[in-house]
Amino acid sequence: GHKTFTMLKPDAVENGHIGAILNQITSSGFKISAMKLTQMTQADAEEFYAIHKERPFFGELVEFMTRGPIVAAILEKENAVEDFRALIGATNPEDAAEGTIRKKYAASVGENAVHGSDSDENAEIEAAFHFSGRETF
Ligand code: ATP
Repeated sequence: GHKTFTMLKPDAVENGHIGAILNQITSSGFKISAMKLTQMTQADAEEFYAIHKERPFFGELVEFMTRGPIVAAILEKENAVEDFRALIGATNPEDAAEGTIRKKYAASVGENAVHGSDSDENAEIEAAFHFSGRETF
C-alpha cells in the first residue's frame, strides 16, 4: 500500500508543533496528498474511534480528540502504513524509540500527538472519513 492517514492531535496543535511534525514527515519521504485544519465533533470522534468504545479510556479519548483543532492529512509513500507507524513510534511515548515523533512531542499515552492508520484498509476508511474526492490530490 502507498497511502496512510494521519491526524496531528489537539495537543500537538495547541503546543505549536504543526510545523516541526510536518517537516519531519515530509523529510522522511512522505508526500502530502490532502491536508486540512479541522475539528472533530463528539459524533465524529465516537465514530472514528468506535473500535475502542468498550475501552475504559473511550470517554477521555473522545473528550481529548474534540477539544481543539487537528491537522488531518493523507500521506503517500511506498509501504506508507508501516513506515509511518515506525516514524511516529509506540502509542505510549515512554516506550517510543528515540527520535520518533511521539518520543519528541507526546506527553502521555492519552495525549500522544499523532495518529497513524494501522492497516491499508483502515487508511482508506479514515481518509474517506475526513476528505472528499475534491480535497485529495
Ligand atoms: P492511533 O490510533 O492514535 O494511531 P495507536 O494505534 O498507536 O494510536 P490504539 O491502541 O489504537 O493506539 O489507541 C488509539 C488511541 O487511544 C491512542 O493513540 C491514544 O490516544 C488512546 N489510548 C490508547 N490507550 C490508552 C490508554 N491506556 N489511556 C488513554 N488513552 C489511550
